[in-house]
Amino acid sequence: MEPFNVFILGCGSAMPTMKHNPSAQVVEIRGKFFMVDCGEGTQLQLRRARVHFNKISAVFISHLHGDHCFGLIGMISTFGMQGRTASLHVYGPKDLGPILQQQLDFFCHDLGYEVVFHAVDTTVNKVIYEDRSLTVETIPLEHRMPCCGYLFREKATLPHIRRDMIDFYGIPISQINNIKAGAGWTTADGKEIAQSQLVTSADPVRSYAYCSDTRYIPTLHNLLEGVSLLYHESTYAHDREAFAAKYFHSTAAQAATVARDAHVGQLALGHYSARYPDESILLEEAQAVFPNTVLTNEGDSLTPAPSPEGKGE
Ligand SMILES: [Zn+2]
Repeated sequence: MEPFNVFILGCGSAMPTMKHNPSAQVVEIRGKFFMVDCGEGTQLQLRRARVHFNKISAVFISHLHGDHCFGLIGMISTFGMQGRTASLHVYGPKDLGPILQQQLDFFCHDLGYEVVFHAVDTTVNKVIYEDRSLTVETIPLEHRMPCCGYLFREKATLPHIRRDMIDFYGIPISQINNIKAGAGWTTADGKEIAQSQLVTSADPVRSYAYCSDTRYIPTLHNLLEGVSLLYHESTYAHDREAFAAKYFHSTAAQAATVARDAHVGQLALGHYSARYPDESILLEEAQAVFPNTVLTNEGDSLTPAPSPEGKGE
């Protein structure tokens, strides 16, 4: 299968700690690299993760709290000093547009490449990016300001050709693409060979949802049904549930409830409050609701596993 990886650059929350960087991730899908959020220090984390700067084609910002976007202008500036020429696309809430433009005008007038801003509507679930390999859609979240998550879905690939059957029937190479696309084959003596005999199944599609920051949304699972890997913020443990609701954040158990109700493959936690020096309490509380849960840490790379066939109830 082609690569699909999520690199964790930062999984802390707003208060800086020695242990965690603020939010930032890189999603690699079939050779393309996308950044999700860009907290302060992200460019250094990118270097540590050995992701080549020029490979990042787009940045998706969830909301305009500093711990999710303070790293953006510094990274854009460094890309320029490194001689980048390819356009960088930035997706985010509309208020980011003029702020970013003012920073670009003041700090980056000799940038050498174009920064293209795309305002996203954080209140709707909509495909905002599409190419041959994938789509990215917005996931409306409930935070203290406009905020959305992003859902990356691989597109289905064509089935694999069975070399042995192609050779057996002497099918010309020129027919391979037709057969992948669904055509069968008729032999010289008129025998019909079904396409299913000439191919094996396509690779299962995988998906990754990034949800930060948000208070618990009981209906959120409807937009996340069957995703392979869900990252959901878990700022607090159960002891701070009321506090979480007040400040529009989630507890680990609430993140796990969303994962369970959405039948996701795996849940990854992050955006930890600095009040938990040991996050195992968050992991335990989440696993009590949804066992296939992991804690994220800087330097981790996660690979969404394909959803089992016939998933969905
Ligand atoms: Zn926030």
